[in-house]
Amino acid sequence: MSATIIDGKKVSKNIRETLKTETAEFVQKTGVTPGLAVVLVGNDPASAVYVRNKHRACEEIGFYSEVHELPEDTREEDLLALLDRLNADPKIHGILVQLPLPKQIDADKVIRKIKPEKDVDAFHPENVGRIMLGNYHFLPCTPAGVMALLDAYGIDPAGKDCVVIGRSNIVGKPQAFLLLERNATVTICHSRTADLASHTKRADIIVVAIGKPRFLKADMVKPGAVVIDVGINRLPDGKLCGDADFEPITELASAITPVPGGVGPMTITMLMKNTLTAARESVKAD
Ligand code: NAD
Repeated sequence: MSATIIDGKKVSKNIRETLKTETAEFVQKTGVTPGLAVVLVGNDPASAVYVRNKHRACEEIGFYSEVHELPEDTREEDLLALLDRLNADPKIHGILVQLPLPKQIDADKVIRKIKPEKDVDAFHPENVGRIMLGNYHFLPCTPAGVMALLDAYGIDPAGKDCVVIGRSNIVGKPQAFLLLERNATVTICHSRTADLASHTKRADIIVVAIGKPRFLKADMVKPGAVVIDVGINRLPDGKLCGDADFEPITELASAITPVPGGVGPMTITMLMKNTLTAARESVKAD
């Protein structure tokens, strides 16, 4: 068998085209342009690239966007004061603070400071709780991107055995909830799971998000399974690779996401979707 390669770039492009059309209609109808503020603290080069890409995506879709670049030694209170201003700014519907933050700043306090209605990353405890209850406006961007890829390829998780490897607050845990919401039977595996392969080998869908290059080997995968690789790892030669051993797995899986070009492009697209949702909700609330 040769697996279908799930094309995240193509799916992402299609969704962005739809968002562009929906945004133009929304602006025409309401006179409101969706606005996203992205806050970057410090000089992390990877974060700077992500922020630039987010700004570019906003322009492409027709959003208003602001980038606030603050120095590495920014005091926590100054960042919180900026968030107060953005919370109150009617031009801004979504606020995203790029993580990680320098160590003098408590990320938890920062996440709690963003108004839940503007929390387009869906990291605020209120939004996390809403996801658990299945009553949400926003979904965290990466797991939402995974669900959109499954949908685009007609892969229905209902009744399937799904194994999520990784239990971070931004990927693994919300991913497990989203699969559960779609009626999958979900197992969450992590660094302390005993005999991980015994779980993955019976999975119909595996989502791996651990940050370990080519960790998931072909002999851990059931023939015909779907493998969604969230991992982004940089190899010593500078190339990117995922958490799954891509080539050997393509021989037996029914579908797999490549790295790059799989889950990665979906994350920013879902951020754009959340920003449009936030703008729509703000108009309803007026
Ligand atoms: P994290 O470091 O916060 O969490 C890693 C998780 O992996 C932990 O829950 C840990 O228990 C688990 N883990 C570690 N080693 C393990 C092992 N040997 N066996 C089983 N589980 C193990 O990471 P994260 O933020 O969730 O990110 C995971 C990966 O996904 C990273 O490579 C990251 O770069 C990538 N990522 C990609 C996107 C995207 O847009 N595609 C977005 C977010 C994260």
